[in-house]
Amino acid sequence: MKVFISVDIEGITGVTSWSETTLGNSDYAQSANQMTKETVAACEGAIAMGAKEIFIKDAHDSARNIDITKLPRCARLSRGWTNTPDSMVAGIDETFDAAIFIGYHSGSGTDGSPLAHTMNLSNNYIKINREKASEFVINSYLAAAYGVPVVFLSGDKMLCEKAKEFNKSIETLAVKEGAGGAAISINPDLACDLIKEGVKNGLKRAGACKIEIPEKFEVEINYKEHKDAKHASFYPGVEQADSHTVKYTSDSVEEFAVTKMFIL
Ligand SMILES: [Zn+2]
Repeated sequence: MKVFISVDIEGITGVTSWSETTLGNSDYAQSANQMTKETVAACEGAIAMGAKEIFIKDAHDSARNIDITKLPRCARLSRGWTNTPDSMVAGIDETFDAAIFIGYHSGSGTDGSPLAHTMNLSNNYIKINREKASEFVINSYLAAAYGVPVVFLSGDKMLCEKAKEFNKSIETLAVKEGAGGAAISINPDLACDLIKEGVKNGLKRAGACKIEIPEKFEVEINYKEHKDAKHASFYPGVEQADSHTVKYTSDSVEEFAVTKMFIL
């Protein structure tokens, strides 16, 4: 079995502020350490279920957060950015049996996390087919384009609840709950134990976690700055809807992701 793991930091146990997510800050080391531990826990769950190859995408900011020396021998780690439309799931392809998302967070335009955002901080929301889309949703579609089911997700409680609506068979673990500018987290070692068990349960029903890809992606992005909407409106196929909003329609996940890469 071959497993893909994408790891972000805002949904890691205990992480609450932007300062704690930024490489080089004095309060960042704890976050990166726990991010590594939760990644290792996911690997252990996958290995227990028979995974022989694990590919890990470090998918936060610098993409240089996970400590490679702590990873099992069957794991490879992608650090840095490939600058390709698959972004946070770069490296995924049809050879993988399952995908796992660790440390994910609620999307832009929601109050599920003090660090809620989608892809970057430029937007108030991104909608796909009239629903606000989180990174979980976007990356689930990118995985589905290769026939890879997302079987496990850890992160904040609201994201986990929304993920169940999107993919009813997915196994989730809420390691924290957003409360205004605060996040209430469980014990970090307990989180690792539960991630390991959750990954096992998710992998058992990988087949049921396959999702349908919509025939059309009707995308709406509302930017914080009106100049960004103006700029995006010059990309082929993108139309300005109002001062802060653009829209475009794509026929495939790939096409959706390429346009997004240039305008978000
Ligand atoms: Zn993120």
